[in-house]
Amino acid sequence: MNGHFSAVGEQPANGNYDHGCQVIDEEKEFNRNLNDYLQSMHVAEAGFNYHLISVFGSQSTGKSTLLNHLFGTTFSVMSETERRQTTKGIWLSKNKRETSAGTKMADNILVMDVEGTDGRERGEDQDFERKSALFALATSEVLLVNIWEHQVGLYQGANMGLLKTVFEVNLQLFQKDKNSTPRSLLFFVIRDHIGVTPLSALQNTLIQDLQKIWSSISKPEGLEHSRIEDYFDFGFAALPHKILQGDKFESEVAQLGARFTTGHRVNKGGDDGVAETEGGILLPEYHRRIPADGLSVYAEGIWDQIVNNKDLDLPTQQELLAQFRCDEISREVLIAFDQQLTPLEEKQTQASKLGKPVVLPDLGPIASEAREKCFKAFEVQASRYHKGVYSRKKQELESKVDGRLKTLYQGQIAAAHKAGVAAFSEAVANKVKAGQKAGGGYEFAEIVSNEKKKTMDIFKAEVESLAIEGVEWTNFVSQNQLFEAELDEVSSKLRKDEIRRLATRVERWVKSRLGDAVGLEFNKLGSGRGGSGAPEEGEKPATEKDLWDRIWKVFTGVVSEAEGRFSDRAKSFDASDAEVEVGLWRLRRKSWTALREKIEEEVMEGNILMKLRENFEDKFRYDEAGVPRIWRPTDDIEGIYTRARESTLTLIPLLAKFKLLSSQSPPDLVSFIGPQPSGVEAGDEEDLAPIGGVDEEEGKSLEEEMTMLSENKRQDLVVRFKKTADGVYVEAKRSAIGGMTQ
Ligand code: GDP
Ligand code: MG
Repeated sequence: MNGHFSAVGEQPANGNYDHGCQVIDEEKEFNRNLNDYLQSMHVAEAGFNYHLISVFGSQSTGKSTLLNHLFGTTFSVMSETERRQTTKGIWLSKNKRETSAGTKMADNILVMDVEGTDGRERGEDQDFERKSALFALATSEVLLVNIWEHQVGLYQGANMGLLKTVFEVNLQLFQKDKNSTPRSLLFFVIRDHIGVTPLSALQNTLIQDLQKIWSSISKPEGLEHSRIEDYFDFGFAALPHKILQGDKFESEVAQLGARFTTGHRVNKGGDDGVAETEGGILLPEYHRRIPADGLSVYAEGIWDQIVNNKDLDLPTQQELLAQFRCDEISREVLIAFDQQLTPLEEKQTQASKLGKPVVLPDLGPIASEAREKCFKAFEVQASRYHKGVYSRKKQELESKVDGRLKTLYQGQIAAAHKAGVAAFSEAVANKVKAGQKAGGGYEFAEIVSNEKKKTMDIFKAEVESLAIEGVEWTNFVSQNQLFEAELDEVSSKLRKDEIRRLATRVERWVKSRLGDAVGLEFNKLGSGRGGSGAPEEGEKPATEKDLWDRIWKVFTGVVSEAEGRFSDRAKSFDASDAEVEVGLWRLRRKSWTALREKIEEEVMEGNILMKLRENFEDKFRYDEAGVPRIWRPTDDIEGIYTRARESTLTLIPLLAKFKLLSSQSPPDLVSFIGPQPSGVEAGDEEDLAPIGGVDEEEGKSLEEEMTMLSENKRQDLVVRFKKTADGVYVEAKRSAIGGMTQ
């Protein structure tokens, strides 16, 4: 099935791990498939819940065979017929057994099968042995040392050389990391145990040898008096000959496998160096504390240092690993965050580019959940790494995430603000319009306060939905105040508009009232006798003389009624005193202008000439009792004509000037209009016509303002009226003669 794969030294293709995963090949190259292998074995996600075990021993002492039996692995073994070295470099495989001899084994046991050496005279092999020992010690919790029974006690044997290397390397490795010197378990598996010498005796011999080796190695400064037990625990097992006692071998291996469970220390270990433990041989303090998802990167870094003969500084390696992994994890957790946030960010950017900011629905809950998930995911994975690096990287991630949220949130608040203001203005305008349609029975102040409350509630809800508990910068309460202030500003603008609308209505009413009332007064001119009896010779009837008094009275009456209407209504929608004052001042001015326009209309040539003619005819054609005259030749037609004509002619100077009979002077327009109130703002005056005498700088005097007919017009009017009167006279004369002939 796997025939085309030579078990020796060939890198398996990605995903094909028939013999486990080669970590280091015979060229001493690190194989990057390790992480892929750990992932495919589901170890990568295990955090610290894994165990790394390495095996050491001379070549062809059945190491691979042992591992395959213990852990169900498929490391290649030397075939029994052609005896040549098989394992090259370092291989790693996950334990395939769940139980051994009925005991559940520890989770995620990873086993490293290390190429053994025999030819200790070959310098190159010694080099690899040293390097692989360093590598194994930097990563593994347990070192299985595989030796033949007959080698026990052979102090000069190859194994002793190996152990010497292990001890030296261990001191080199962990002297830098004095605070957290990890312990390792050296677990001796004595092979081909015949059984004559009990394991306990073999054990003692081995411990004595180990002590001897320990005392013989040169120790770095400060560690001269260190003891072997400071670094190592020891474990022992013996196995019968596999080929000669196959069944027994199997069952003993199974017994041995059952010891690969987690355990804990009961005491520090007796004089014999054997620690008393409960449970299995895998004690927490052996663990190198490299999270499984960082194991590959860590191993690669370690191997790189080893191969390049650099000082292996584990704390530094762990920090580097932490940086690398934290960055990697950060990128990973940001992917999910991006999926949630990027579309929202794009939507917001797009909308604001178009100048139409959008309020993103549910932004608060979506963003805070994405943030929380992102931080949680980072914490779960990254907190297993170097604490200092982790907290630094955590801060980096937080400021990256929060920076983006800040931008989003600020955009959201700006959009909510803008949308809120627009909705508010629109709602008020619509309500007012509807109120107007329904006959004007609406309360502007009420509409404004209702809509303001509604809009504020929506805005507040949005602001509150953005708040994240315990995150200071997500507290946007002060934005509520800004929003409220803007609504108030908008309200006052809307109120101004409303005041203007009210003013327009009132002005229209004034105009229409003045149109009727002033028209009526002028119409009275048509009747030369007025209503107050017969005029004395050469005297104008009272109704004519007090024309302006009556007009002024009508005018001031209408305006004062209008003022009352205006201020009542304006106050009802919370207009300020200043606003009311300005409105009234404007109203008086506009009313005066309207009055003046109405008078001008009345005194327009055609209109006034007709009125004068009517006035004259009335005086000429009717007698004192109001009876129409039938002209007889004896009548003093000329005398009547002259009196009537002169009487009517006196109207022209009367009409020319707005002058009160009572005071013999123009009305006090200046006091009537009053001084310009201090509340007048830019734009308030724009549509106001200048009034002579009131607006002094306009260069027109009150005298001119009160002049309704210019001198020229007066003279012209006199001439034309006389012609008209003459015509009437001639006609009368004719009818008198005609009446006689008849
Ligand atoms: P490694 O080089 O240490 O991995 O050894 P291998 O597992 O490849 O085995 C080397 C040879 O030793 C093979 O031919 C095995 O059949 C043989 N072998 C395996 N187990 C035992 C054992 O318990 N006793 C003896 N005498 N030989 C064994
Ligand atoms: Mg082997």
